[in-house]
Amino acid sequence: MNDITNELTLLRELGFTHLEISEQRVASSEQGSTRETLDDLGRIARACEKCRLAKTRTNVVYGVGNPNADLMFVGEAPGRDEDIQGEPFVGRAGQLLTDIIKAMKLTRDQVYITNVIKCRPPENRNPEPDELDECRPYIKRQIALIRPKVIVTLGRFALQSLTEKGYSISAVRGQWLQVDGVKVMPTYHPAYLLRNPAAKKDVWNDMKKVMAELGLL
Ligand code: URA
Repeated sequence: MNDITNELTLLRELGFTHLEISEQRVASSEQGSTRETLDDLGRIARACEKCRLAKTRTNVVYGVGNPNADLMFVGEAPGRDEDIQGEPFVGRAGQLLTDIIKAMKLTRDQVYITNVIKCRPPENRNPEPDELDECRPYIKRQIALIRPKVIVTLGRFALQSLTEKGYSISAVRGQWLQVDGVKVMPTYHPAYLLRNPAAKKDVWNDMKKVMAELGLL
């Protein structure tokens, strides 16, 4: 299979029905076959118009960090700061996530950070079920390409969208789950911790389980 065939297959799997490939892409594919990378997927995601959020976003917030990370953090959706900067978790909740990562003796560059929804919902409203469905193929592909050892889901929407189950966060927080053969640790969202600082100790207990799993303790 050449590059273009790979790309068409990928686009179809991501839910695109109307496909356009530029002349430049056709020309570059003639140079030979390459494996799909996280950057290829990012290029497709940044042009995505599958749902209504494309109309109101400033930037697609695809993900940042180490493409070979052992640890992946998955949040809900970009907020205002993330929409403007095009990078996940850069606002107040993001600062708290960065502090949690540092407390684990890691840096943002060593892990991978993304969301189940890549475009900001207007006024930070909750994502709609159809938006989560349209966006799910991106996070699934990111996981397949990165193959982390552990995924930490932050909050209800990340947990439910990734597992495709109606779990309540308080029922499963701190317990190992599995998605596509990868261990998943559900925990609270940092924005929840800003409102409920007493819950920080629960998140830290969850992160200690993650550190033990990754041999960081
Ligand atoms: N909240 C999220 O869930 N994701 C972000 O990127 C920022 C805030």
